[in-house]
Amino acid sequence: MDLEAIRKSVIECTKCDLCKTRTHSVPGKGNFNSDVIFVGEAPGKNEDLKGEPFVGVAGKKLLLALENAGVTRDEVYITNTVKCRPPKNRIPSVLEKETCQEYIQKEIEIIRPKIICVLGNTAFGSILGGNEITKFRGKVGRKDGQLYFITIHPAATIYNQGLIEVLKEDIKKLFEIIRELKNGKEIPIDIEFAS
Ligand code: SF4
Repeated sequence: MDLEAIRKSVIECTKCDLCKTRTHSVPGKGNFNSDVIFVGEAPGKNEDLKGEPFVGVAGKKLLLALENAGVTRDEVYITNTVKCRPPKNRIPSVLEKETCQEYIQKEIEIIRPKIICVLGNTAFGSILGGNEITKFRGKVGRKDGQLYFITIHPAATIYNQGLIEVLKEDIKKLFEIIRELKNGKEIPIDIEFAS
């Protein structure tokens, strides 16, 4: 299966109840050859309306942090752990996350990024079993041989202006790490996550 096939499957997917309340499902989008996949929790209102990830205010914050690091949105791949918007932006249930996880797994298998950037506490919990994002943000983790970089969700910066500087700092660090990885350098691992 290629990314185009995954996109089509996500658009048509009715595997969990979120298909009943969504306007559009939201497949991942971006550069298929990206060194990094950004993974958020689930689509919000604007994403649900447009069928694209990170196109609302949170998306603008992420874009700001990318631009600050000298990177364009087209250079990276952006997706969510759950591809349909939960009603009223509630946190996706365990069942919804488990049902949807095959898509993110396939996206990772195909793109084979050097590092995955986990955005926010819910994605941190779903992907790495972690919590307390503020304690772990800016750190590099490893699970099953895959590198992860942990940072706050861009939406967290909407009502807390101070956090935009935190996000910018983290994303800048992420791309410095990517540059080092591309130069074949060893990256210190802050946390090893259990399988
Ligand atoms: S959330 Fe995932 S599993 Fe559920 S309907 Fe949407 S694409 Fe399918």
